[in-house]
Amino acid sequence: MNRLPKETQMGAQLQLNYQWTHFWLILAGMWTMGGAIPIQAKQTQPVVIHSVTLIDGESDEAVENATVIFQQGRISSISMARKPPFPEGAVVIDGTGKFLIPGLWDMHAHLSYWGEDALGMLVNAGVTSIRELGGDPDEIEGWMARIQSGELVGPSMVWCGPYVEGLEAEDEYRLKVGTTKEARVAAHTLKDRGVDFIKIQPRIARDLVEALVSEANSVGLSVVGHVPQGLSAIEASALGLRSIEHLSPYLQLSEEELEATIQTLLKNGTWVSPALFSLVAPFVASGEDPSMDEKIQKAYSIVRRFYEAGVPLLLGANFAYRDWPQQPGSGLHGEMVAFVDAGIPAMEVIKMATAQAARFSGKSQDFGRIIVGKVADMVLLDQDPLRDIHHIHSTNSVILRGEIMVPMSK
Ligand SMILES: [Zn+2]
Repeated sequence: MNRLPKETQMGAQLQLNYQWTHFWLILAGMWTMGGAIPIQAKQTQPVVIHSVTLIDGESDEAVENATVIFQQGRISSISMARKPPFPEGAVVIDGTGKFLIPGLWDMHAHLSYWGEDALGMLVNAGVTSIRELGGDPDEIEGWMARIQSGELVGPSMVWCGPYVEGLEAEDEYRLKVGTTKEARVAAHTLKDRGVDFIKIQPRIARDLVEALVSEANSVGLSVVGHVPQGLSAIEASALGLRSIEHLSPYLQLSEEELEATIQTLLKNGTWVSPALFSLVAPFVASGEDPSMDEKIQKAYSIVRRFYEAGVPLLLGANFAYRDWPQQPGSGLHGEMVAFVDAGIPAMEVIKMATAQAARFSGKSQDFGRIIVGKVADMVLLDQDPLRDIHHIHSTNSVILRGEIMVPMSK
């Protein structure tokens, strides 16, 4: 790691009244993607963000002139008083004209394909937690350990390790199963490995999914993933998948079939992770207007129908290979924009990408909201994301487990 003189890092454009005396700034890793290098400020003092507009992740309204104080990695006080007392020795950040939202969750991440610099790119974009949805378990575990020790800057994670799929799958990062017995053993193997849930890919037979889900549930793990080949989303939901990834299972459905699917998802409490931006991103990358495309229009209308019916939704960039147009960090922003383009209000999209994602992940005790007691994962934005969701790009700084990160691009 390189120590840098603070003057070169803290541009006047931040206009924040940081007291840097006891800080040291670290170039957090060797990330080179587009200057996506978070700068980490280690501090033990309390930090005060005052006069900020607060979007807490669950409330329906933003609150102006809030004062949020965090210390030792947790939010310790929130006040709407005009001039609340600041703790002794606090770092004071003037949030006037700025917007504070909870740290974002990317619920469809594939770190192993991209590599280590995805971690910094995520944090740089305000993504403080991810659902890692399939990759190399040794590598992912290694990253989690180095993030926990402070050696690496990266998001908190829930993870599945390798994908579970049938014997015919030839891709990497697979735990392959050929019999119901092997499917049941896989549930225990992964449980012992310490994963948070299990992910299936499409090439797996119905009876193997059945065995996997029942054994996984018996050891406290849920199963998520693609609709298995030859099955419908209704059947996948009935098999007990907790979330279904991608929109492909719905694009060809008739109106009646879609309605029946929605009713089944609601009845079973199945979450949907549409990975909408991964459909839109190729258009954005080539400078075309995605809303002119028939398939994208259909995708938007399905996501809107899910939202209006109350099907719980998850946002995910589905980043993996480097030559895919959706990238770590910016891809989640793209997903948020796509959800708003589909017709979901920006406030609802922010709630889905924060508190609801944390709830789905079983982490809402610690994460997902800006309220007293939660882990201090927050994003300070220069512009109002409710007025225009594209302002989600206007990252001023990211608070990651109580540490202030200033994006390198600032
Ligand atoms: Zn995926």
